[in-house]
Amino acid sequence: MKRGFLNSAKSKAIRLGSDAGYGSSSTIGAPSMPTPDLSSSGTETVILPANAAPDEPVTVCFFWPGSKEVLMKMPGYPKPLRKVSEPTFRVGEAGSKGLGLFATRALSQGELIIDEQPLLISVRGVPVAVPAMLNQEQTTKYQLREFEKYLEVVLKKMRPADREAFMSLANSHLTDGSGPIAGRIRTNSLGLDGLCPAMTGPMAQYSSVPHYISRMNNSCSPNTTSNFHDASISYTVYAARDIAEGEELTLSYSDVWDTAANRQQTFKPYGFVCACDACRDPISSDRRRAKIRAFVPSVRMWAVNRSLPDDWLINKCLEQIALLEQEKLEGEVALPCRD
Ligand SMILES: [Zn+2]
Repeated sequence: MKRGFLNSAKSKAIRLGSDAGYGSSSTIGAPSMPTPDLSSSGTETVILPANAAPDEPVTVCFFWPGSKEVLMKMPGYPKPLRKVSEPTFRVGEAGSKGLGLFATRALSQGELIIDEQPLLISVRGVPVAVPAMLNQEQTTKYQLREFEKYLEVVLKKMRPADREAFMSLANSHLTDGSGPIAGRIRTNSLGLDGLCPAMTGPMAQYSSVPHYISRMNNSCSPNTTSNFHDASISYTVYAARDIAEGEELTLSYSDVWDTAANRQQTFKPYGFVCACDACRDPISSDRRRAKIRAFVPSVRMWAVNRSLPDDWLINKCLEQIALLEQEKLEGEVALPCRD
């Protein structure tokens, strides 16, 4: 489930997966060229914040026209990154999952772990005139190849250390026609949709690639919660529950309210099968999650029905809390709510 951003104060960070519009027919339109001129595609590359000192983080933004202006007019822009008092995480080996982030100390529920500007925010495709007679697969590969040429120009704008960090990220799109840059975006990016509220379709959709948050592995019971903040152009990650020193920090690559079987389909493009507690016991977990999702805490329902005991509503809520704790979904608060 992709969530909008900039339409609201913050949006949840969520992985994009393979359906993010790369190489989609919607990118067809203008001529391609051997050495791309970004302005001819209607795009521009800007570095934000524009006045950052050399030791301050920046984001290279590959934007559709108008996005920069929208972002720079956001209340509070440019807001400094939130400070984390002591180091909270390290990058380490996570077994078959490759690298991951691990807590360097005990973290309390609600504690800020990271506030990070992405290395890159990018459009998900550029207008490309596709030669006739190509089938669908060839068309997609052609579009991806052309997109890569643009991305090469964009990446040259990155600071060398940031470019090195970007290219050190994993790439699980080695055989589908994605170039090394697009492949890394598709593997690691978080969706930023709705950057320009006046725009619709592909022009309202971006991918973003943070350095450290990109390293976080999936769990369907994530112990962190992540949001994007427009004024600071950054993602915050908070502890969704108490986290022990040495515990791996996780986020969800899928909609945690989806069934275990559907979630595994979402993970396929990333090349892994999730083996979290919820996925190891899918029948019980799916049942509990469906029950949580169906719950509507209605005060009115209790108030108008005099046959219900005084503690009916509170007991319903306590039951929900128990289910949420059992499923380890303390950070997932986007439930249907009434009254
Ligand atoms: Zn799982």
